[in-house]
Amino acid sequence: MTASQLRTLDLPAIRSQFPVLDREVHPGVRLVYLDSAASSQKPRAVLAAMSNLYEQHYANVHRGIHRLAEEATEAFEAGRAKVASFIGASSPREIVFTKNTTEAINLVAHSWGRANLKAGDSILLTEMEHHSNLVPWLMLAKEIGFEIRYVSFGPDYELDQLQYRQLLETLPKLVGFTMMSNVLGTITPVAEMTAAAHAAGAVVLVDGAQAVPHLQLNVAQLGVDFLAFSAHKMCGPSGIGALYGRRELLERMPPFLGGGEMIKRVRLDSFEPNEVPHKFEAGTPPIAEAVGFGAAVDFLTELGMPAVMEHERMMVTRAVEQLEEVPGVRVYGPAPEHKGGVAAFTFETAHAHDVAQLLDREGIAVRAGHHCAMPLHEKLGLPATTRASFYLYNTPEEIDRLIEGLYKVRQVFA
Ligand code: PMP
Repeated sequence: MTASQLRTLDLPAIRSQFPVLDREVHPGVRLVYLDSAASSQKPRAVLAAMSNLYEQHYANVHRGIHRLAEEATEAFEAGRAKVASFIGASSPREIVFTKNTTEAINLVAHSWGRANLKAGDSILLTEMEHHSNLVPWLMLAKEIGFEIRYVSFGPDYELDQLQYRQLLETLPKLVGFTMMSNVLGTITPVAEMTAAAHAAGAVVLVDGAQAVPHLQLNVAQLGVDFLAFSAHKMCGPSGIGALYGRRELLERMPPFLGGGEMIKRVRLDSFEPNEVPHKFEAGTPPIAEAVGFGAAVDFLTELGMPAVMEHERMMVTRAVEQLEEVPGVRVYGPAPEHKGGVAAFTFETAHAHDVAQLLDREGIAVRAGHHCAMPLHEKLGLPATTRASFYLYNTPEEIDRLIEGLYKVRQVFA
C-alpha cells in the first residue's frame, strides 16, 4: 500500500464510538487513557453485538437443537471465523478460543509440551518475555527436567540474532518469543526467526498479545506454528483470547482440559476427544465474548490495520520526542520508527508509582511497575517503569497532556 492509499484515522469519529473517552475521572478533569497495552477500551459496536446476542439469541452453543441454540452457535462460530480471517489462518478450525493469551500459552505448554518434551531436551525463550510466556515453561521444566535457554537483547533493545542462531544449534524443541514487547515496544523479526527455527527443527510459538491488536499480520506469511492473543487488548471483551495453531499440530496434540464439549464419546473407562478446535474447548465457552471478539475484528478491519499502525507510529514518535525533552526522563526501547505504540520511561527523581499516581490526578491513566516482565526490568537494572501506551483512539493533544502532567510531577519531585 502506498502512502497516498493509506487512510488516516478519523479520530473524532472513532472517539465517538468509545463513550468512556468522554468521561471526567475527577471533577472537571477529562480522562486521557494511555493504558491500552494493559487493556483497550471497547467501541459501541462490540457492546451492541454482545447485548444483541444476550437480548435476542442467547443459549448454550453446540448442544441444543432448538432455534436459539442454533442462532447462538452460529454467532459464536461466526466470531471464530472472523478472528481466523483477521490473522490469515487457513481455517476457523485453527482458532481455539481460550480465556486469554496466558491460557493459550498454557495450553501449548500443557498439551504440546507434555507430549513432546522430555528430560534432557531444551527450549528457547527470550529475555523480553512477559511472565505469561515464562512461567508456564518454568513450571513444566521443573516437572519434566528440560532446559530453558534465553535469547538476550542488546543495548539497541533488539533480540541478539547472532546469539539466536548459535542457540538454535543446540537444537531446541520449541522457540517461544513475543512479536512485540509490552515494555520496550520492540517488534521482533518473526518471519526470519521462524524460518531459522524451522530449519533447526523447532516448533515456533509467538506471543501476539501486543502484536495482533496493533500490527497487520498474517500467520501464513509469518509461518508460525502457534500464535497466542487476547481480545481485550484489541477492542474486544475480556474473558476471551485465542490460540492459533497449525491444524496438523493441533490434530496431534492431546486435550488440555477435560469435560463436556471436548469429547466425541465417553465411557466409564475411556473417552474419545472431539475434533479440533472443540477438543481444546472444555465446558461452556465464552459465548457473547466470541461474538464481541468478532465485532472487534470487524471494527479493526473497517479502520484498516495499516492506518492503525501508522497512527500509533506517529503517536509514539511524538511521545518519545517530547518525553526525552522532559528533564530527568529516560525512555527505554528502540527508536520510535522501529517500535510499537508503547513508551516506558523512568523519572530521575520519582518512583514509577508516584509518577503514575500524580498523573492520575491530572486524569492521565498510565501503568507503573514491572508490567509482568520482571526479568526484563532486572536486566535494565530497574525496579519499575512508567508506561504510556497508545491506541487508535488517542490524540496528539493527549500526549501534550501527558507531558504537561510530567512537568507537574517534576515540580513535586524537584
Ligand atoms: N504477553 C504480552 C506481551 C502481554 O503484554 C500480555 C498482557 N499484558 C500478555 C502476554 C498476557 O495477556 P493476558 O493477560 O490477556 O493473558
